[in-house]
Amino acid sequence: MVNETKLLEGLTEEDARIRMERYGLNILSNGKKVSAIKIFLEQFNDFIIWVLIGATIISGFMNERADAITILIIVVMNAVLGFIQEYKTEKSLEALKKLAAPTAKVKRNGKLKVVSAEELVPGDIVILESGDRVPADCEIISSNNILVDESLLTGESVGVEKDSEDKNNNLYMGTIVLTGKAIAKVICTGMNTEMGRIANMLDDIENEKSPLKEKLAHLGKILVVICIVVCAVVTIMGILRGQNAYEMFLLGVSLAVAAIPEGLPAIVTVALALGVSKMLKRNALIRKLPAVETLGCTSIICSDKTGTLTENKMTVKAIFFNGKIYNLDEENIPENTMLKKAFTYCNDCNFNFRSDNLKEGVLGSPTEAALIQAYFRNLDDVKKFLGAVDKVEEIPFNSDRKMMSVLVKEGAKYNSYVKGAPERIIDRCKYIWINGEVRLFTESYKKSVLKALDDMSYKALRCVAGAYKEKVSNKIHMEKELIFIGIAGMIDPPRKEIKDAVLKCKIAGIKPIMITGDHKNTAYAIGKQVDICKNKDEVITGKELDDLSDKDLEKNIENYTVFARVTPKHKLRIVKAFKKGAHIVAMTGDGVNDAPAVKEADIGISMGISGTDVTKEASAMILLDDNFATIVAAVEEGRVIYNNIRKFIRYLLSCNLGEVLTMFLSSLFYLENPLLPIQILFVNLATDGLPAIALGVDPKDEDIMLERPRRKGESIFSRGLSEKIIIRGALIGICTVFSFVAGKYYNMNLDTSRTLALSTLVMSQLIHVFECRSENHSIFEIKLFTNLYLVGAVGISIAMLLCILYIPFLQNIFHTMPLSLPQWLIVVFFSSIISFINSLYIFIGNSKKNGR
Ligand code: ATP
Repeated sequence: MVNETKLLEGLTEEDARIRMERYGLNILSNGKKVSAIKIFLEQFNDFIIWVLIGATIISGFMNERADAITILIIVVMNAVLGFIQEYKTEKSLEALKKLAAPTAKVKRNGKLKVVSAEELVPGDIVILESGDRVPADCEIISSNNILVDESLLTGESVGVEKDSEDKNNNLYMGTIVLTGKAIAKVICTGMNTEMGRIANMLDDIENEKSPLKEKLAHLGKILVVICIVVCAVVTIMGILRGQNAYEMFLLGVSLAVAAIPEGLPAIVTVALALGVSKMLKRNALIRKLPAVETLGCTSIICSDKTGTLTENKMTVKAIFFNGKIYNLDEENIPENTMLKKAFTYCNDCNFNFRSDNLKEGVLGSPTEAALIQAYFRNLDDVKKFLGAVDKVEEIPFNSDRKMMSVLVKEGAKYNSYVKGAPERIIDRCKYIWINGEVRLFTESYKKSVLKALDDMSYKALRCVAGAYKEKVSNKIHMEKELIFIGIAGMIDPPRKEIKDAVLKCKIAGIKPIMITGDHKNTAYAIGKQVDICKNKDEVITGKELDDLSDKDLEKNIENYTVFARVTPKHKLRIVKAFKKGAHIVAMTGDGVNDAPAVKEADIGISMGISGTDVTKEASAMILLDDNFATIVAAVEEGRVIYNNIRKFIRYLLSCNLGEVLTMFLSSLFYLENPLLPIQILFVNLATDGLPAIALGVDPKDEDIMLERPRRKGESIFSRGLSEKIIIRGALIGICTVFSFVAGKYYNMNLDTSRTLALSTLVMSQLIHVFECRSENHSIFEIKLFTNLYLVGAVGISIAMLLCILYIPFLQNIFHTMPLSLPQWLIVVFFSSIISFINSLYIFIGNSKKNGR
């Protein structure tokens, strides 16, 4: 199989391009795109909006034509704003789907490349391994124990064996390779595949509902009812007091339009989608939108070691054989061809012999590549030593067995070579190779081997042992009664950024946990280096886990931070135990067997580089760089997004409450209407749209990772938010009414008093929006220019207000009067007094806290 991979050159890039033109992309067209027109028209699909449009059209026919046109313009502008928000969301979701698309390993120009599966064309040579989803319909060229899950096509959940020599040698798009490997040639792509004929693709991201969005939609419905009742009361009270019934009706409807936070779920989606693209910039690809919310609640991050906490750049540092540990940097090591054979015959690396650099020319798992690099100086040596090897059987490596073996024909003999986790190999050895002699593997030899393993692993070396067997009569014996040869120890240094990320987690009340298939000592040494653990009591092995009942594990799990020599099934137990302890667990996984644990976790995370398609599909998030620090960044981003959602909910609801109360209070106290319908609609347009969206992209609070994670399912209004909304909404309403009354008190005419009320209502909201940026800091402490969108949005709103106050044509339409300086003082006083007092109160409180 290795030889054949080397022989196959694959298509040239030019040929692939020509074929792409002929056959098109390898995708299944789902025809489900939402058109822009549809999104736009949906903005009008609201009962209240229809009532308003109806009412204005009638009024247009009756008398106030200018009013009617302006109201219609405002409604359309609102719809345009809503459209922009939703269209953007739709586009980013589409882009996400593309990114989440599977990849394929293909040979082109003689080189092995990873490409997006949609770039495959008929004739391409693809390499398929366990956990891969077959990217197109293919014909097997050569294979090794390949078993495929075709349940997607046949409904039959039993794996199907495939073989290149068999009639049954076709692989179908969308099916999953359960075990083994194959080299296959693509025969059909896109809609020409079996899958294309069924034309039925899993549709993930779009169908995912965000619980928060659902809750808000529900809240929205309740608010609609409350608003309609209040608006009806205002309307009826006005009519009873003898005001024009039609005008009062229009006012009531306008108030309902302004007060109902119809855009709330849409803005939440925008905030989540924007958050998703921000996370993408930090290398975390979200596959399921609700994960963005859950990320902020994460209290445990269970992470793989190799490649996630470490660099996955392995270098062999020490080799043990003949009872001695040789240090590769310092010593001249005696030849040991048997160990060389075990580590390099039993090895799945592919080679690009055109490369003139050994490092670049070896393609394979870092562990295996490190072994090749330790034993050869250049690719010519590799060719000479491995070119003629006749492998007849291979049992691939997997994380459960933690070993692999090959059967090789050497002359007339069949010999097996095995490598794997030292304990697993030792268990299968009956003999030991010492200075070219095969001796019985006695207890004292075993002791010396285990001692060497201890020494090497304590130095954080990842250890792999090699063994062999001569004259294997049957392949079922190839891993039995082996001859132990030696151990290779390789370093895989922790990533530089991990220590800081771990510290950040701890400060944020999140516990980082290491889960690894590696040796206990190696895991402990790395865990200590990155500060995940302090002493050895925190380390537990898979074997020790097996001895614990589920109950005992749940009771004691908080004592452990490192789980070593575990298999994927242990991972599932670990997730479940942490979840029982009311934790919100994020769990990483790469191999196909990790999928159940990844699925079980609150946030399942798969690896973008090393992960299999099955695990990626089970996950809520993909780490594009396989890096632990990226998980922490995503958690941070998740917290930022959730906080931003709280910010604009606080803003929108308190402002809308302020608007409703303005009208309600004045009708309660038998005042004239402080605002006209068209003015109410203006307030809605000027304050609801842009500033709220700008809050959705507010940069993170400095102390966002100083707080403990919030509870899952915690109400968005918790931690005092509802009180803040109600109190501030009431005060905005009261201040607006006061400024209207002040106008009357100073004998201003009705239009001027209304202009005072209108300006106060707008300005108090535009000041309040800055307060909403932080729940713990006052306006004086917030850096104004860190959110330029908000400054811009507020600038636009103020400009709009000034336009309707000072442009004569607009004055006529909005029934406003130009305000003088003293009148502006009244506006500024009533719109800022509450924010000023509140901020001063917080500021003094914070200064005292910091001073202490
Ligand atoms: P993590 O779960 O953090 O990724 P890991 O990569 O160390 O941990 P595994 O890949 O399951 O976990 O490896 C477990 C052990 O199996 C290693 O410590 C090593 O001894 C052995 N091993 C790893 N890769 C190979 C391989 N390609 N061939 C043979 N043995 C291997």
